[in-house]
Amino acid sequence: MHSDVKQVLFTEEQIKARVRELGAQITNDYKGKNILLCGILKGAVTFFTDLARCIDGPVEFDFMVCSSYGASTTSSGFVKIRKDLDSDVRGRDILIVEDIIDTGVTLSKLKPLLLERGAASVKIATLLSKPSRRKVDIPVDYNGFEIPDAFVVGYGLDYNSRYRNLPYIGVLKEEVYSH
Ligand code: 5GP
Repeated sequence: MHSDVKQVLFTEEQIKARVRELGAQITNDYKGKNILLCGILKGAVTFFTDLARCIDGPVEFDFMVCSSYGASTTSSGFVKIRKDLDSDVRGRDILIVEDIIDTGVTLSKLKPLLLERGAASVKIATLLSKPSRRKVDIPVDYNGFEIPDAFVVGYGLDYNSRYRNLPYIGVLKEEVYSH
């Protein structure tokens, strides 16, 4: 375990097993459909690539970069798209792939935007969810794990651009924030 990590919440093996379950569920739910898998960069990259390989059916890849402004405790509710999807989403069945849903603000803006653009359906898959932090009620269609209100890193999630390559999900030690 990395010396900056206080506790491992989910091991590589636990994540792998859960992602496989989600992939099987998605395969079953989208039978006969061509999914446009939309990853939110950068945090969702690891989950995205693992999940995609667990879906048995036609899948296309696209990516978005978003940033939400305002302090996390007083979210402004303003979400800026820094890199948009390349695809025309009209008539497409979109599955947004996110690393973690915290306040829900980001996805509460993205989902209606894609529907406005004419998507046939928009569902959400997230590896992690912190329900106790929710400010906007957003339905999550596929959720890997619910976690308590703690700052986690690994499996794509960062702190100051670090720890994304850890193969597990861990809680960062408090002293790491203070310097
Ligand atoms: P929200 O749901 O509040 O709009 O934002 C979700 C985004 O906040 C995630 O995509 C992620 O970038 C960031 N985030 C929220 N909680 C955590 C956490 O515990 N660890 C990390 N690394 N990022 C988080």
